[in-house]
Amino acid sequence: MDLSTLRVDFPLIAGRPDLVYLDSAATSQKPRRVIESLKRFYETLNANVHRGAYRLSAEATEAYEEARKRLARFLNANPQEIVFVRNTTEAMNLVAYAWGLRNLKEGDEVLVTEMEHHAGLVPWHLVAGLTGARIRAIPLTEEGRLDLSALDTLLTERVKVVSVVHMSNVLGTINPVAEIARRAKEVGALVVVDGAQSAPHLPVNVKALGADFFALSGHKMLGPTGAGVL
Ligand code: PLP
Repeated sequence: MDLSTLRVDFPLIAGRPDLVYLDSAATSQKPRRVIESLKRFYETLNANVHRGAYRLSAEATEAYEEARKRLARFLNANPQEIVFVRNTTEAMNLVAYAWGLRNLKEGDEVLVTEMEHHAGLVPWHLVAGLTGARIRAIPLTEEGRLDLSALDTLLTERVKVVSVVHMSNVLGTINPVAEIARRAKEVGALVVVDGAQSAPHLPVNVKALGADFFALSGHKMLGPTGAGVL
């Protein structure tokens, strides 16, 4: 990988050879193409999407729907399954409040892991407080991996949701989501995957993972801030 060539693609660092940016997992810098394409949209295509009966609006809608199709291909999902949100935090809140609030009740359990990001934890805690459901967590081993042997006792019929981070933002651990999802389905639980760190780094196939919901943030993967996907 030729880093000096790559730097040219990123206007913010291209002009600053002194700057070494190592916080991409928190938010990535934006390549020229992304900045230009945002500019192009506002300069040539901006109009009300899905709500206007005139040509510019139809073109904006077409571009918007093309983005949905691309995201679907990227995740191996169906276009109609792509919900645009602002980021992973909003996606996780959307699932917890839209699905959890309506379906969870006292006696139910939400199974998370001890390595969740706050974005995958706080929404469930708040919704558990409102519904009487209980939160339980898959513990970690000494090596910082999920202790899957705990699933034998944790995964019971009481568990209605298993919400798990695909790749840890703290440890870099890649969790065996497909295996966890398979076990979750055996007890009829929904599987929610926080893909904020995996989508930028791994090929993601939501069908192969067995994810009912998968969340990502555009700003962590070279995209614009304020554009995420559930
Ligand atoms: N989940 C993980 C694993 C993360 O690393 C982050 C951000 O660092 C988030 C969720 C939250 O992402 P956002 O701030 O884009 O909502």
